[in-house]
Amino acid sequence: MKPQVEIYDTTLRDGSQGEGINFSVADKLRIAEKLDAFGVHYIEGGWPGSNPKDIEFFAQAKKKKFKNARLAAFGSTRKKGVPVEQDDQVRLLIEAATPVVTIFGKTSMLHVKEVLRCTPEENLAMIADTVKFLKDHGKFVIYDAEHCFDGYKLDPEYAVATWQAAEKAGADFVVLCDTNGGCLPVEVAEITKVALGKLNCPIGIHTHDDIGLGVANALVAIKAGVVHVQGTINGYGERTGNCNLTSVIPCIALKMKKTCVPAKSLPKLKEISQFVDEIANMRHNPRLPWVGSAAFAHKGGAHVNAVQKLTSSYEHIDPTLVGNQRTVLISDLAGRSNIVVKAQELGFKVTNDTPELKSILNRVKELEHEGYEFEAAEASLALLIGKSLKKREESFRVETYHVSMRRDVKESICEATVRVRVGDKVHHEVADGDGPVNALDGALRAALVKSFPKLEKITLTDYKVRILDTATGTAAKTRVLIQSTDGKRDWGTVGVSENIIEASLQALVDSMEFALLKK
Ligand SMILES: [Zn+2]
Repeated sequence: MKPQVEIYDTTLRDGSQGEGINFSVADKLRIAEKLDAFGVHYIEGGWPGSNPKDIEFFAQAKKKKFKNARLAAFGSTRKKGVPVEQDDQVRLLIEAATPVVTIFGKTSMLHVKEVLRCTPEENLAMIADTVKFLKDHGKFVIYDAEHCFDGYKLDPEYAVATWQAAEKAGADFVVLCDTNGGCLPVEVAEITKVALGKLNCPIGIHTHDDIGLGVANALVAIKAGVVHVQGTINGYGERTGNCNLTSVIPCIALKMKKTCVPAKSLPKLKEISQFVDEIANMRHNPRLPWVGSAAFAHKGGAHVNAVQKLTSSYEHIDPTLVGNQRTVLISDLAGRSNIVVKAQELGFKVTNDTPELKSILNRVKELEHEGYEFEAAEASLALLIGKSLKKREESFRVETYHVSMRRDVKESICEATVRVRVGDKVHHEVADGDGPVNALDGALRAALVKSFPKLEKITLTDYKVRILDTATGTAAKTRVLIQSTDGKRDWGTVGVSENIIEASLQALVDSMEFALLKK
């Protein structure tokens, strides 16, 4: 069944022009496969005329079978003064062998005169010739009207003439582009309505986020009647980015109640967002609407209390609809409800009437005041709750440790010794490492493995240090957050001290303790 709004993904072309984004051909193929499985309708793979990597991408993509999406090659209208059949850039579009070709052309008289430096008539001919040539080669042609809104504001009559030139030459779609990303929703709505009145072919929208309105502008155009929206996963793109598909898709499906991607794909939205970040080697942005880890995180005590009674009280939708989840953050704003919810999540039998609740809450607030943070250190929190409920005996104790570093002309060496007591046994180990924390981790692990062989499998996956500035005038403190894994579970622990080695040891000890908890 034809969706009411088609999704055109340009992560691999417009998105790859974002700062810090660099996809290899293999990356692009993986993302294309994922997008196809997710159910977008078009995947713009690149601009073969702009770089050899994109030519290679299309050569490889030719061999793949896409189930849902049609692959599009992107390019521009022919050069001025060159017959279309002799234009190399246009020839490469045909050679990309995709079912769809998207070309952009100039709408704005300013660009025609100052950038292209050709006559208005020549620009119209460039649009028409190129569209017709691609149609004659059997392509489905999408015409991106560059600077569509700004061009219309400058010279409405000429802008309309450019769109009509594309339509008349056979374009299957005319897409209105807010290329500079600076238009307001009222302008986009108004000009979109004009375009709908002037054209008979279906119309699409392509927006940028320069003033934070990329998604809003796409939505008003859809409301006005366009049936095709272009954007990128996570809003990657030039400058501040493109219209974010991970926002616009759920807005279309859940807020406007129009069909776009298959309904079964919506719960995979967070997954595809994280997948693309992973491939791009970007940190996932916790504040992304809909799919960020903070999108449904509740922190204020009153909010948590209300959400427990009625989830819709502080949530605009059920987070699972887009594959996200509700989380409760523990912090010095925490009320009893946060602790109860969190403790239950961590597997403790705690209710609002548990007598130890007050002392746990006080302890958390005290530690947060000292600089601890439990939002990313749930394992440390679990140990604290366990201790307060007297459900937990200490498995081991670090009696003494020593860390040293020496450096000669050739290398620098860090060495750590640790003395650990396990019951009535004492283990004493030495290890060296790349740095003091690495050496300490090695020595602690070597000592503990003797009594607890399962610790052999534990590895550290992340180590973060933050210097806490103190308004109180005392010496600056260091907070260390460690992320560990045993291959199946991941957990975070925290340590705080004026001494970075001591803070690291606390987080390491908590990590090992947590690994030893039966689960
Ligand atoms: Zn763009």
